[in-house]
Amino acid sequence: MLGVMSDVVTPDFSDTPVWWNDTPPRALPLTPLPASTDVAVIGSGYTGLSAALTLARGGRGVHVLEAEHPGYGASTRNSGYVGFQLRNKLVPLMERIGAAPALAMAREAIAAHRHVVAFIEREQIACKFNYCGRYIPAHTPEVLESLKREAELMTREFGIAAEAVPKSREREEIGTDFFHGGLRVEMSGALHPGLYHAGLLDRTLASGAVVHAHTPATEIERLREGRFRVTTARGPIEVGAVILATNGYTGKGAPWLARRMIPVNAGVSISEPLSDERIASVMPKGRTTIDTRHNPLSFRVYPGGGRIQFSAARGLFARDHRQKAREMHAAFVAVFPHMNDMRIAHCWTGQMGFTFDELPHIGLHDGVHYAMGYCGSGVHMASWLGHKLGLRVLGSPDAATAFDGRELQSRWYYRGRPWFLPAYVHWTNFKDKRDLARARRST
Ligand SMILES: Cc1cc2nc3c(=O)[nH]c(=O)nc-3n(C[C@H](O)[C@H](O)[C@H](O)COP(=O)(O)OP(=O)(O)OC[C@H]3O[C@@H](n4cnc5c(N)ncnc54)[C@H](O)[C@@H]3O)c2cc1C
Repeated sequence: MLGVMSDVVTPDFSDTPVWWNDTPPRALPLTPLPASTDVAVIGSGYTGLSAALTLARGGRGVHVLEAEHPGYGASTRNSGYVGFQLRNKLVPLMERIGAAPALAMAREAIAAHRHVVAFIEREQIACKFNYCGRYIPAHTPEVLESLKREAELMTREFGIAAEAVPKSREREEIGTDFFHGGLRVEMSGALHPGLYHAGLLDRTLASGAVVHAHTPATEIERLREGRFRVTTARGPIEVGAVILATNGYTGKGAPWLARRMIPVNAGVSISEPLSDERIASVMPKGRTTIDTRHNPLSFRVYPGGGRIQFSAARGLFARDHRQKAREMHAAFVAVFPHMNDMRIAHCWTGQMGFTFDELPHIGLHDGVHYAMGYCGSGVHMASWLGHKLGLRVLGSPDAATAFDGRELQSRWYYRGRPWFLPAYVHWTNFKDKRDLARARRST
């Protein structure tokens, strides 16, 4: 087995997020916490910084409390796909929660996409943003039919150009016959997550907000007259409002949310340097691609080119990133057998925040504001709902969202430790394999 391992990963394999090479963890000065301020924001990812930026530009005193270094969580570990949707495809979401709320949420996810793209442009954030488009290959012919309805709906309801691609033309999009056609959408892009976070951090600091790294918040107490005391490892701070922006890293200090947020481990792999021809043999158009399986394969061209970036084998916490790289490699090669000699130079993991209804949530509990649960679609949704949180605390009429007032669900069997995930991942992997096999037999 050793021989297989050493073939799959390069000798200089690294399990540190590759984005940290370009944007190393920022060493901010350890300034003392003030006795009091207007708002404490807990968490310094896209949600927390977007909220802090909106608040500071709205004239509020803001202190961001981060347990590790700024952006330590998913915001500097993700794949950088800038989508326009929620995790749920529109047609199944309409069937599940009804047409009107599903369409309102879908409309808002598109607004979130436009918000991020406009923000990057307006603020001139150099994060290698590329409007490359998205391809969504269907793993069964039935799913392709559903994607076709999705394409019609998106064009009719939102005026978005979405085109169903039949299996006979799929090689225009991806270099494999593994799937059964798919959906092509132009309104989708990709960026360098570390550079986007660094730009957001710079704008937040310039707006007057203070970011305290290595300052975990351990307790939030409600005081009289609508004030709060946030206890941190570096002392307490009294504030008029608290925002929790901890998503997949929500811990024991916020027990109500920890019982509702499911941390799902996900990884990203980066190939060794590859020729343009080899990259084009996988994705001739260079679009971000995510297939429709429960446990999908997703891939894109590495920002700046020259390598393939991909993800697969989601859900199980990785003890050993070389092993994770090997699992992802197997999932990639199952779809692209001609790439079986491609080696992996980087593989790392991070935690996505999932919810039981697989929808993002924004709300207020015990006087504490929160936004989280993006279920893997956080580049646009975290930036958007973080901004909305800021508007909420400012009391702006623009704060309303289609996600307001939806109950953040819990389950009696869940206390913050996702013991059921291994069984869930095995079950969904089984369903994916079964559906693929049935589809293959029927075509
Ligand atoms: C591997 C991976 C790939 C992904 N790919 C994509 C993608 O391509 N496109 C997309 O749209 N989304 C993607 N996502 C999801 C996206 O990255 C997240 O939804 C988004 O970054 C969440 O931002 P956030 O600010 O809410 O949380 P995070 O960025 O996770 O930040 C939470 C922060 O809270 C801090 N924290 C926790 N507890 C405390 C405490 N008690 N006190 C102080 N600080 C605390 C943590 O240290 C952490 O820094 C991916 C996620 C992962 C893990």
